[in-house]
Amino acid sequence: MFVKKEIMNRVRTRIAPSPTGDPHVGTAYIALFNRCFSHKNKGDFILRIEDTDQLRSTKESEKGILDSLRWLGLSWDEGPDKPGEYGPYRQSERAEIYSKHSDILLKTGRAFHCFCSQERLNVLRQNQMQDKIQVGYDGHCLNLSKKEVQDKLDLGEDHVIRMKIPETGECTFNDLLRGEIRIEWSQVDMQVLIKSDGLPTYHFANVVDDHLMAISHVIRGEEWINSVPKHLLLYEYFEWTPPIFCHMPLLRNPDKSKLSKRKNPTSIGYYKAMGYLPEAVTNYLGMMGWSMPSGEEKFTAEEMISNFDISRVSLGGPIFDVEKLSWLNGKYLREEVSDKEFIERFVSWIAGDEKLSSITPLIKERVEKFSDVVELSSFFVSAELKITKDRFSHKKLDIDTSVKILQFTLWRLEDLRSWTTDEIRLELQSISDAMDLKIREFLFPLFVAITGNPISVSVIESISILGIDMVRMRLRTAIDILGGISKKKQKVFDKEYRELP
Ligand code: GLU
Repeated sequence: MFVKKEIMNRVRTRIAPSPTGDPHVGTAYIALFNRCFSHKNKGDFILRIEDTDQLRSTKESEKGILDSLRWLGLSWDEGPDKPGEYGPYRQSERAEIYSKHSDILLKTGRAFHCFCSQERLNVLRQNQMQDKIQVGYDGHCLNLSKKEVQDKLDLGEDHVIRMKIPETGECTFNDLLRGEIRIEWSQVDMQVLIKSDGLPTYHFANVVDDHLMAISHVIRGEEWINSVPKHLLLYEYFEWTPPIFCHMPLLRNPDKSKLSKRKNPTSIGYYKAMGYLPEAVTNYLGMMGWSMPSGEEKFTAEEMISNFDISRVSLGGPIFDVEKLSWLNGKYLREEVSDKEFIERFVSWIAGDEKLSSITPLIKERVEKFSDVVELSSFFVSAELKITKDRFSHKKLDIDTSVKILQFTLWRLEDLRSWTTDEIRLELQSISDAMDLKIREFLFPLFVAITGNPISVSVIESISILGIDMVRMRLRTAIDILGGISKKKQKVFDKEYRELP
């Protein structure tokens, strides 16, 4: 009894990323605040991988997230690589736990089998949208008798498991930063808990794990506020004590819109590749909606922990401004890094991470002496390239076609799941064929945009080495240099792109 009470009183927070893309600065920001909160309270900070979406989750993404958090110094006390009492810490390894728990809800009548086809759900949704009423499941399968359900299950019919939701009233809860929040049950859908592949949805696995991992405080982005009623109801169904909820303000672009990679580089890998110092990035994330009581802008992670007070988080959307980050990074370089350390860290930046070893075979072919190397390879390590519009002039390609090549390439690369030279080559070849261009012509504006020159080392290899964030930045800058894309043209491009093979 005593032990249980002690665990319940212990502060335990977690970051629960889904490994479905590049490690996002938003993940690091939420990790930082969770870590500060638990460590300030002498508690534990847990890393849990939420990889139940089998189609979108990848091992590379998981590795990217772990490596990036480690690079930023945001270590965790328990996680997939750091076994603790509450593991496994990867949801794909916990399938049995979820099915055991969904069985409990089925038995107690809190959840039900739903056999509705995707077609039926699509029509239902369209009709609801047309009638301008709340979109959501209509409870069709709630009317099936026990026998009907059993017969369908015996026949092996495809099904999901949904949770029951009260028809009337509202859910009231407290948010640590926002106070009382009320959401009407009529706004809450009969959430799918177990999908037809037998795996849980985010909502179900998240609640079960937060409980089983003894999480005391759920500190996460404000986009999850509307999910709280479903989560609280699950706690109630299981007769579990819910954690305390705290929804942090979302990071924003300088124009106040939600931080997005369309406007700002959002991947932590980008900041590493650009040569920012991890301690400066972490410090900057600590300034997102929070400040030191002294008002000092430069502070270490330890200083942040010892001064941490979650109630100092301000809810006005914090602006993630790359220029301000660069200013802070420069301050670190000047004030915290000795000349000797500067050299060491610069060399490890340029030579570490396989960057130099992947560039070497490309440039070795083309140089005669070391002094040729810097000019030929500088585009791999430069932040921005100095290019002008006339560099894109080509006798067979007009500006419109060049812009189209750059935009189509960007869209295609953003969707690429496997970032390898072969994949990139295949994709570019296929767009080039569809545009009826010779591959040399097609690659011309890409050479200029990516390497700064019409002739250079292989542009496809360069794309693969630079990575999507840097490539996105370069392609976008090139499009801007060429005059950008008007709204009207964007529509035409969109349509043509969708028709590409
Ligand atoms: N897997 C969710 C995400 O990717 C976690 C949200 C939460 O913290 O509850 O953001």
